[in-house]
Amino acid sequence: MKKNSLLKKILKTPLPKNNMRNKIVAGNWKMNLGIQQGADLIKNIIEAKPQLNPHQKVIFCTPFTHLNSSSEVLKSAPSGYLLGAQNCHDQPSGAYTGEISVDMLTELQVSAVIIGHSERRQYFGESNEFLKNKVDSLVSKGKMILFCCGEPLSIRESDKQNEYVARQLQESLFHLSAEAMMNHIVIAYEPIWAIGTGVTASTQQAQDMHAFIRSLLKETYHEDVSKEISILYGGSCNATNAAELFACPDVDGGLIGGAALKAESFLPIISAMP
Ligand code: PEP
Repeated sequence: MKKNSLLKKILKTPLPKNNMRNKIVAGNWKMNLGIQQGADLIKNIIEAKPQLNPHQKVIFCTPFTHLNSSSEVLKSAPSGYLLGAQNCHDQPSGAYTGEISVDMLTELQVSAVIIGHSERRQYFGESNEFLKNKVDSLVSKGKMILFCCGEPLSIRESDKQNEYVARQLQESLFHLSAEAMMNHIVIAYEPIWAIGTGVTASTQQAQDMHAFIRSLLKETYHEDVSKEISILYGGSCNATNAAELFACPDVDGGLIGGAALKAESFLPIISAMP
């Protein structure tokens, strides 16, 4: 059998069903909060919401400087509360001034890493190809990857968002095996025009894109893969609109920026998690 058809056959082989897909709310603090403020925020949230359902996860993606203190707070947290980072380097060690490796994150009990956030793509020139290397490094170290995709306004205005997002996923993720996809990947759809702008995608726009991503997963891998990967929405999601967005059948929670910086605004979003 030719290599390509063998590969296709492997990818289309039905996989054993795992549990129902996870519902996730992840806070992306970006470059905000002092170390003590961050620790207090996590403590306050856990105190107010001491129990999550077994399929729910809350992830705090803190700046690197907060990981140590946040991981101390999370040591006594109930199950489902996890620590995340906002970036990593793809190499295990070496002369990469200013960078942090996946092993360094592991030492601080980091479970998940945001990859491909539009701010890193835009301000730090991270290409789909470059992100693919980070994805591989994280998969090899057993991490959960919160992989961000999403189109700029000009692409949305020309109704080319599906092609744009498909390319981001194809070039950075779809080289992975079905097993690696199911075990490590969470996709966050974040339309760039909605990030930090106060303009949220409508529930129809979010649902349409999430359903499209799921159809791509089915076509590339298998229906089981498409059903099991959590797809989060991100972009001006807040205490007021979270419940409506999370009620969409293909939206499994959110990646939250501004509203994750205060317990008053983050808690209602956690509570809106299906
Ligand atoms: C983000 O930066 O991932 C994000 C979704 O930001 P905001 O919620 O502030 O739009």
